[in-house]
Amino acid sequence: MSIPFLDLKAQYAQIKDEINQAIQEVIDSCAFASGPFVEKFEKQWAEYCTVKHALGVASGTDALQLILCALGVKQGDEVITVANTFIATAEAISLTGATPVFIDIYETTYTMNPQLLEGAITPRTKAIIPVHLYGQMADMDPIVEIARRHGLSVIEDACQAHGATYKGRKAGSLGDAAAFSFYPGKNLGAYGEAGAVTTASDEIAAKIRMLRDHGQPRKYYHDIIGWNGRMDGIQGAVLSAKLKYLDGWNKARAAIAGVYSRELKHADGVICPHTMDVCGHVFHIYAIRVAERDALLKFLGEQGIQCGIHYPLPLHRQKAYAGSRHGALKVSESCASELLSLPIHADMSVDQAAQVAQALARKTGTRLK
Ligand SMILES: *Cc1c(COP(=O)(O)O)cnc(C)c1O
Repeated sequence: MSIPFLDLKAQYAQIKDEINQAIQEVIDSCAFASGPFVEKFEKQWAEYCTVKHALGVASGTDALQLILCALGVKQGDEVITVANTFIATAEAISLTGATPVFIDIYETTYTMNPQLLEGAITPRTKAIIPVHLYGQMADMDPIVEIARRHGLSVIEDACQAHGATYKGRKAGSLGDAAAFSFYPGKNLGAYGEAGAVTTASDEIAAKIRMLRDHGQPRKYYHDIIGWNGRMDGIQGAVLSAKLKYLDGWNKARAAIAGVYSRELKHADGVICPHTMDVCGHVFHIYAIRVAERDALLKFLGEQGIQCGIHYPLPLHRQKAYAGSRHGALKVSESCASELLSLPIHADMSVDQAAQVAQALARKTGTRLK
C-alpha cells in the first residue's frame, strides 16, 4: 500500500494541457511580474470570495505582513493570535515590530476561543488574527463583535481556507482583511509561491497596492517604504486556470473526510474533527486526535500511509518565540502532542480512505463495521 499525504502530480496530470497553455501564454507575452494575468486572477478571486478587492501578492506570509503594515501595526503594538498555527501567522506580526500574544483554542474545533480574547486585550492591542485552521473558519461573529467593541482590526488568516464558509459567508469576506496562501500544497495551489489579500476597504486595498510595489504610486516615485511583494504573472495564469476546479476539489476532499468520519466513529480512542453547524469545512487537513499519536504515525508510515503533524510544537514553545506573551495554552499544548493529519487530497479515492481507516482500526484494536 502506498497512500501519499498529498499528490500534486496526479492533479497536474488531469489539467496538464490547460496549465501548459496558461504558462505558455505568459511566456509569449513576457508579462512575468504583476501584469494582466495577475489582474485577471485578482478579479476572479474577489468574485469567488464575494469581496470588493483581491490583491495578488508573493506569498501568504507577505499577505499577512502587508495587511498589518497597511493597518499601521508597528513596534510597541500587540496583536492577538493563536499558538497552534503555521509560524507565518506570528512571524508577520513580529516582522512589523509588534508583539504576538497567544491565546488558547476551542477544545472542539481547535480554532481561536473568543471567550479568552478580552482577557488578552491591553491598551497596546491593535488587531486580532484568527486562523481558519485546517479549512474550518474560526468562530467569527463573537471575534468581530469583541474587536468592534474595543476598536481593533480583525485579520483572517485564511491560508488554509479557500472556499470555506461561516454562516454562508465566504472566508476572506468577514474581517477587515484576509490573507490567502497559494503555496502548492494548499487547496488552491500555485506552481510556485503566491498569495492574496482580500478586503472590502478601498483604503486598505490602495495602501497594499503601494506597499507590495516598493511604495510607489507610479514608477520610481516612492511615497512610503514598501518592498517587492508582487505576484508572478505565471502564478496568476496558473491560479486562473485552476480556480474553476476549486469547488469540485473541495467537494472531493469533503467526501474523503466523510469516509474517515464514518469509518472511525467507533474507533477506540480516536477523536474525529468537529465541524461547527454554521461552518462549511474545506478540509485542507483532516486531523484526528489520539493519545498514542507518535506510535500511530510510525505504524501508519510502515503500512505505506503517509501522515503529518500540524503542528508538533506550538509557537510559544518554539525557540524563536522563547519568552513570548501568552496565557495558559492547555488545549494548544495537548493538540500538539495528540493531533495526527491523515492523507487527504482531491485525487484520493474513497477506497484509499477506507484502507487508511482500516489500518488505523487495526492498531487501535477497534473492529470497524
Ligand atoms: C501556508 C500558511 C501561511 C503562509 O503562507 P505562505 O504562502 O507559505 O507564505 C500562513 N498561515 C497559515 C495558517 C498557513 O497554513
